Amino acid sequence: MQLNINRRSALTGTAAAVTISFAGGRARAADLPVVTLDGAEATLRDADIATFSKSMTGPVLTPADADYNNARKIWNAMFERRPALIAKCTSVEDVKAAVSFGRDHNLLTAVKCGGHSISGQSVCERGLVIDLTGLRSVELDAKARTVRVAGGCLLGDVDAAAYAVGLASTFGVVSHTGVGGLTLGGGMGRLQRQFGMAVDNVLEVQVLTADGRLVTANKDQNQDLYWGVRGGGGNFGIVTSFKFQLHPFDSAVTTTSFNYGANDAKQVLRAYFDYANIAPDELWLTLGLGRNGKGEVGVNVSGSYMGSPDKADATLKTLGTFGSVKGKRTGTMPYVALQKIADVGGRHGRYHYAKSGMLGTIEGPTRAKLIDATVDYFMDQPQNNSHALFLLMGGAINRVPADATAYPHRTAMHNVDVGADGDVREGSDAYVQWGRKYWDVIDPFTGGGFYINSAMDDGEKRVRGNFGGNLDRLVALKTKYDPSNFFRLNANIKPMAKI
Ligand SMILES: Cc1cc2nc3c(=O)[nH]c(=O)nc-3n(C[C@H](O)[C@H](O)[C@H](O)COP(=O)(O)OP(=O)(O)OC[C@H]3O[C@@H](n4cnc5c(N)ncnc54)[C@H](O)[C@@H]3O)c2cc1C
Repeated sequence: MQLNINRRSALTGTAAAVTISFAGGRARAADLPVVTLDGAEATLRDADIATFSKSMTGPVLTPADADYNNARKIWNAMFERRPALIAKCTSVEDVKAAVSFGRDHNLLTAVKCGGHSISGQSVCERGLVIDLTGLRSVELDAKARTVRVAGGCLLGDVDAAAYAVGLASTFGVVSHTGVGGLTLGGGMGRLQRQFGMAVDNVLEVQVLTADGRLVTANKDQNQDLYWGVRGGGGNFGIVTSFKFQLHPFDSAVTTTSFNYGANDAKQVLRAYFDYANIAPDELWLTLGLGRNGKGEVGVNVSGSYMGSPDKADATLKTLGTFGSVKGKRTGTMPYVALQKIADVGGRHGRYHYAKSGMLGTIEGPTRAKLIDATVDYFMDQPQNNSHALFLLMGGAINRVPADATAYPHRTAMHNVDVGADGDVREGSDAYVQWGRKYWDVIDPFTGGGFYINSAMDDGEKRVRGNFGGNLDRLVALKTKYDPSNFFRLNANIKPMAKI
């Protein structure tokens, strides 16, 4: 993937658009230059756009619409793309109309929920964006401890509803992330080591397939699709609703974070890897190497104890024994408040580059080599606002067999993520290059497995390799449900005929 391709093409395609007004008062461009599924140039007739607009309850935005500029933005500002059309769906019928239109006109089509795709998959240049952000209903059944969530919901929508009745989902750590993208790729969250990832808590999905059918998939119906959506990403269609298992959890959560100096980095990493092997399932644990805007390096070890508060201190204090502590922060708050604590730090509109991969149990000579590689490169190649972050996996995630769902990483003990970010585009080329080189140093330790929701620059071979023993089944499923590869802006699994 070329990060800057969008800047160039943003300047083409829409400059000559003629603005006209329709009875509904919405300004719209005339015939539009578009890109087809295979990347060819084409023109979309104004009359076809008008017919499509009329078939939708929600608006269909073109570059001439006032709301267009906001609607085309996604979280990672690196991807400054200008779609031809943004279909803002407000119902399943709208999603169906949008899929039919995209398919009938052979349009390059992206699907957007929370817009957090780090690699920019939810927006496309001169194609169609099927925007699900108007599908935000949450129906909770407190007695059954389940929740039905529309395909455009954000994590915070569900967290708030569940917490109100003493329940919790296992979703991720920034509340404005989309349930759609997060769940379909796996879904890591603070409760994952006790209750599994988001995929492990999906009970049912309704999927709008490329041929316009609404298919229900659960343990009894369309089991193949039920298997595939739990880790296979957006490959098989648009999930218009998910049903999740919730868990009783309304404890206050204690979080403690310890800062260590750069000189202690290797020692702290050694202690982290040792402790990771014996940490309780209640612990959400991260270790980050960071470099601030002044170029200073620090190491942070943070843990949240997701269990009975009276046991929190005994576990969390261990994290302060990894080296010479330079600073400590601790706090206790309700789970829903904790779930929003990173919302501002993880805000929309900044420029990011990140690479990530899965690691198994790290011990013996591998441990020393990985630590040296991680720390030495980080110290020797200064790049401001850069990070290397280790996140503890394992626990309940690894008690699920690797072929039970499409999500394949059931022996991973850590997710490692390296990258950098900034507030402006200027300077980003340097950290993109830095991130790629850093990844070359770390990647050999991963065995090629990575979290598809953090994919970046990952080509077809790597995506296929990532799914390991689940690949053949995924290819068969893709061939069955999306033989023309209409849903291709994702960690794409090609159908048989296209391989
Ligand atoms: C700030 C931030 C915090 C994050 N924190 C976590 C975390 O704690 N845990 C974690 O596991 N991941 C996390 N991620 C990664 C996250 O899981 C992915 O970025 C994910 O793709 C986001 O989903 P989205 O719906 O917001 O993204 P979008 O960009 O809207 O969608 C991404 C892709 O998902 C697919 N998709 C989305 N919705 C649907 C749907 N309803 N039907 C079919 N396909 C769909 C499409 O292929 C789309 O291209 C985080 C990312 C960011 C930027």
